[in-house]
Order: sequence, then structure tokens, then C-alpha cells
Amino acid sequence: MTMSYVDSVFEQVKQRNPNEPEFLQAVQEVLESLKPVIHRHPEFAEAGLLERIVEPERQIIFRVPWVDDRGKVQVNRGFRVQFNSAIGPYKGGLRFHPTVNLSIIKFLGFEQIFKNSLTGLPIGGGKGGSDFDPKGKSDGEIMRFCQSFMTELYRHIGADCDVPAGDIGVGGREIGYLFGQYKRLRNCYEGVLTGKGLTYGGSLVRTEATGYGLCYFVDEMIRAKGRSFAGATVVISGSGNVSLYALEKVVQLGGKVVAMSDSNGYIVDPAGVDFTLMRRIKEVERRRIKEYAAAKPGVEYHEGCAGIWSVKCDIALPCATQNELDERAAQQLVDNGCWAVGEGANMPSTPEAVEIFLKNKVLFAPAKAANAGGVATSALEMSQNSMRLSWTFAEVDAKLKEIMAGIYRKASEAAKEYGYEDNLVVGANIAGFLKVAQAMMAQGIV
Ligand code: NDP
Repeated sequence: MTMSYVDSVFEQVKQRNPNEPEFLQAVQEVLESLKPVIHRHPEFAEAGLLERIVEPERQIIFRVPWVDDRGKVQVNRGFRVQFNSAIGPYKGGLRFHPTVNLSIIKFLGFEQIFKNSLTGLPIGGGKGGSDFDPKGKSDGEIMRFCQSFMTELYRHIGADCDVPAGDIGVGGREIGYLFGQYKRLRNCYEGVLTGKGLTYGGSLVRTEATGYGLCYFVDEMIRAKGRSFAGATVVISGSGNVSLYALEKVVQLGGKVVAMSDSNGYIVDPAGVDFTLMRRIKEVERRRIKEYAAAKPGVEYHEGCAGIWSVKCDIALPCATQNELDERAAQQLVDNGCWAVGEGANMPSTPEAVEIFLKNKVLFAPAKAANAGGVATSALEMSQNSMRLSWTFAEVDAKLKEIMAGIYRKASEAAKEYGYEDNLVVGANIAGFLKVAQAMMAQGIV
């Protein structure tokens, strides 16, 4: 009976959103793992809680016109999905990438609800972005695009209503342009965006937070099983914000990163990837990863990013994008002796890949829990903005570490309580869901 409630809600979601495969994938994964909770709490079904939680509170789709450097008019599509505000203002990043569509923004926004809840901080779930491609654009083009994007978005967001941040293609530069335009339109200086620069309200550690947080989480998970990063060989996909700071923290924890990638290919550096060099090439100079191989002797470059999972490692940290690690790659990792996987990107492993990891007892840290350090530190930035104070690096880093340890504890305890010991996928979904569900129950049918 209760089983059929969950299944019938998923059927409705499928019928209502037939062209949204990523969104359906994310919903199915969460709903499946909530079955034991729904069984224990029949009042959730009576209150139509699942039907409500899978439907965004509000979705905004808008035109973003701008003029490129040649004087040509360009038109992109902008999105903001305000998914759930039961426990706080909507919070979630903006993604600028040509693959962005409603399905991707909805999958990210849906996952964000539970991730934000897991942090223990008062933030609801949302996500946004555009199909704009920042690659190869001049600073002037990026600025004009960001200004046009904010010229519509500003009327839907605010420090107590919806606080966007960065994601793929949106880093410090873009947040700066977006913030400048918001302030100009509203004539109001408020913490409406996070990931801001340190001179205008940003928080120390926000840049590093997702990568650091991922390593803190994985460290908790593997230490609970008597393992550690010390002496471990690590592969990290991507070379953007999350990947770079995961690299820095892995090295600090005594591990060795032997491969990294971008969307064109991957490098293998048996001596261990040099953080300073990689950061300069990717973050400061915005060049391709191929140039890392050219700059350091003994490094190989391979075309095509999917091959990175064939590199032998103890720990794999997929930090690029959704569905980048499939069944074949998962099997390859397992066959090569990989014993832990931590998801830095959102939904980087396909459902089949996750099944292979769980079946083979690979210690698996799902994105919702493992990459929550970014949004948690964003919430700390919001607190500092409200208090008009700035905490030191050490203070924020200590809070981040504590939050990640807390998330690990909540996810593993929930998994155990509901009969799925060591399954952090189920544990994270349940722990994240329960807080939101209780808040929604208390607030009536809204
Ligand atoms: P960046 O834009 O800084 O970096 C993205 C990296 O992934 C780049 O190396 C990029 O390569 C690569 N990449 C992007 N799209 C693809 C693709 N389709 N195929 C292969 N490689 C790709 O983004 P972030 O580091 O901020 O985000 C990475 C992941 O982490 C995303 O899933 C994001 O949602 C998630 N995340 C980010 C948070 C944050 O705080 N930034 C917080 C929580 C999750 P190239 O340069 O060639 O495009």
C-alpha cells in the first residue's frame, strides 16, 4: 500500500515531465530510498507530501538578450527554479553551460533541497542558470551577459527570499558582475548572492569550500573503516573550482593525485599533480588542461575525458558534471582496486555505476552529502553578511569541517536506523528529507 504511494507519485512525475530525463533520474533515486520512511510515517501520504515536494514552488524562464564584441545581438535562455522554501530562503547555484535546460536545473534544484537540509543550516532549495557558454568569451561579453541576466533575475531574488551562488561556468568574476548589477537595480546593499569577492562581502573559504568539504567528508567515511588518505592514490575528474580545491586538500591529507581532466581530455602525472601549477593554468590563466602536460615533464595527455576512469587509483573523486561516470567506468575502477568514491559533482555517477559500487562494497560518498560544503559555507557567508562581520579563515574552515562531520554522522545514523547500514545514499536522502518533511507538515498545505 505504502509502496504503491511512492510508485504512483513517481508515475505522476513521469507523466507530467516527460522530457526531463535528468530530473526524473534524481527524483527516482530519492523516492526509492524514501520507501522505508513513508512506511513508518503514513501521515506524509495523507498530507500529499511527496506530490508537493516533487513540484517546484515556482519556475522562472526568461529571455537574456546581449550584444557580443562584434556588435551582433545574441539571445540566451535564463532559468531560476525556486523548488522548496520550507526550511529557509531558496539557495542554490547558477550554472552557465550550453547544455543547461529545464531538466538539468530541476534535477539540481530538487537535489539541493535535501543537501541544504543536511547541512543543518536554514536554507531552502533552488537552482538556476543559462545555456550561455562562457568559454572563449571576452570579459566585456561576460559582463554584458551577466548584467542582462540580472536585469530580469533581480525581481525574483533577495537576501531573505532567494540567494543564488556559483556553479559550472559561474565563478568569482561572474558573481561580481551579477552583484554589481543587482545593487544598481535595487539600490540596496544586501547579501543576495554568495561566492562574492572578499572586498565586498565574500567569506573566506567559500572558494575552497566544496573541494575541501568533499575531502573532509570522505576522510570521515574512510576513517570510520580504518582507512585514510595518507599514501592513497587519487583520481579527480574535472579541473574547475571543486576539482582544484579537492586536489589541494588531498595533498594536505597525505594523498597523491595522479590524474585530472577537462571536457577535452585528461592528464596522468605519476609523480603527483602540482596544485600551484594546475591552479595557475586552469583558474588564473583559464587555459586547457593539455597545457599542464606541456609545462611539466613526465606528464601524459590523453584526448577524451571519459578515459580518466581507467587510471588505477584507491580513491576516485568525480568532480566535473552529471553522469560522467557510467557502469563501464565503475567496473573498471573496481577491477583496478578502487576502494572509495566521493562525488564532488552533482549526480556524476549513473544509477548503474552506483549499484556497482555498493555491490562491491566500495565506500561511496553520494553528492548530496559529500559536496554540501559549498552551500554550507555559502550559508555561513549569509550569516556574516547579516551580522556585518567577517570571520577568519581558520574559523570558517573549522565550521566547515564540523558541518561535514555532522552530515556524515546524520547520513550514517539514518542509514542504520532504517536498516541500510553503510549505505550513505539512502542515509543522506532520508536524513535530508525528514527535516524538510517535518517543516512542511507544520506549515500546512502550501
Ligand atoms: P567549474 O565550471 O569550475 O568546472 C567544471 C569542470 O568540469 C571543468 O573542468 C569542466 O571542463 C568540466 N566539465 C564541465 N562540463 C563537462 C562536461 N559536460 N563533460 C566533461 N567535463 C565537463 O564548475 P564547478 O567546479 O563549480 O562544478 C563542478 C561540479 O560540482 C558540478 O556538477 C557542480 O554542480 C558541482 N558543485 C559545485 C559547487 C561549487 O561550489 N562550485 C557546489 C556543489 C556542487 P571544461 O573547462 O573543459 O568545461
